[in-house]
Amino acid sequence: MATTGKVIKCKAAVAWEPKKLLTIEEIEVAPPQAHEVRLKVVATGVCHSDYYVLYEDIRDYAFPCVLGHEGAGIVESVGPGVTRFKPGDKVIPLFASQCGECLLCLSDKTNQCVKNWTVDEKNMESKSRFTCKGKVIIQFMGTSTFSEYTVVREVALTKISDSAPLDKVCLLGCGISTGYGAAINTAKVQPGSTCAVFGLGAVGLAAVMGCQAAGASRIIAVDINKDKSSKAKEFGATDFVNPKDYKKPIQEVLMEMTDGGVDFSLECAGNVDVMRCALESTRRAWGVSVIVGWVDVKDVSTKPVDLICGRTWKGSYFGGWKSVQSVPKLVSDYMDKKIKVDEFITHTLPLEKVNEAFDLMITGKSIRTVLKM
Ligand code: NAD
Ligand code: ZN
Ligand code: ZN
Repeated sequence: MATTGKVIKCKAAVAWEPKKLLTIEEIEVAPPQAHEVRLKVVATGVCHSDYYVLYEDIRDYAFPCVLGHEGAGIVESVGPGVTRFKPGDKVIPLFASQCGECLLCLSDKTNQCVKNWTVDEKNMESKSRFTCKGKVIIQFMGTSTFSEYTVVREVALTKISDSAPLDKVCLLGCGISTGYGAAINTAKVQPGSTCAVFGLGAVGLAAVMGCQAAGASRIIAVDINKDKSSKAKEFGATDFVNPKDYKKPIQEVLMEMTDGGVDFSLECAGNVDVMRCALESTRRAWGVSVIVGWVDVKDVSTKPVDLICGRTWKGSYFGGWKSVQSVPKLVSDYMDKKIKVDEFITHTLPLEKVNEAFDLMITGKSIRTVLKM
């Protein structure tokens, strides 16, 4: 390609400072180095985790940066040593890497990888191929899909079907895979079981979809936004509960509804108090509760006795999927109509309207906005 080996100038949404609107800038994207791939981003979803880094994470540690980790695109060029990708391949960048060689990748107990971008947060600047106005711009999560071009490590990229619609399957780069996998892989929801899902954004709705796919007989969807009720039912929820409609704690409401608690619960709101509610909504003798919502600046707590009697509290990172090998299969499942994706997309906007996409999410008006480049 004409651009191979050259710096590409393109548009990106830059987060210069925490808690400030993103601004559209012209950035320079350097060619990929050894074992890196440069891609043209075609579309990207906007996930709550992007919002979290910008507005909710009090550590404010990764600025200036380009956010975005739910993208899909086409390989533009590859760096030395890259054999699995070639220009023109359709790909999904992965915030969760799978090198296939490390101790963790070789274990079937985890989807963690020692080469995850976040493992080495100290060297964020040296890992970036972006500059703007003479400054290095951090490629947050190693993906930075709020840009027309990005460079990712080959261990954090997967090739997908040539016929996959990139403006839809981008959502399998995070939210849908996360919620769906949290129910199937992490909670291991069983046929005939009773489930509760707290928080009905894309992650929570995908968890509802996962509970249904696993054969749950009752799925109670919980959200403080009453407008999420119909969407939850479309994804397979049998009941909708709004905690604002009750004076007593929501875990008591769920206990009564299920005569002693649900078998499985999933927290997809990103709130430590809701995590506790989700745990305490499960049956004391065997309930399993999975934390999916992202919080790394607060503690979560419960009474030890609430675990002693038999509950299990777990967490789920990217739905437990080993990313490189699983995402292409999830893309095929979507194309074979085994999982929903289109139904999550409520808005499509140009990259320039990324701040509007955050507003739509945080005011509960969207499930997912897809930004097209
Ligand atoms: P979202 O903002 O679209 O949805 C969150 C939902 O939670 C909203 O519907 C909101 O009304 C609801 N909610 C808020 N407070 C609540 C409460 N007290 N009780 C019940 N519901 C409540 O977010 P999303 O993009 O779906 O992401 C959900 C969470 O998952 C976020 O915390 C995100 O950072 C996290 N996440 C984690 C992973 C992972 O690998 N574990 C991956 C992606 C996203
Ligand atoms: Zn995400
Ligand atoms: Zn690995």
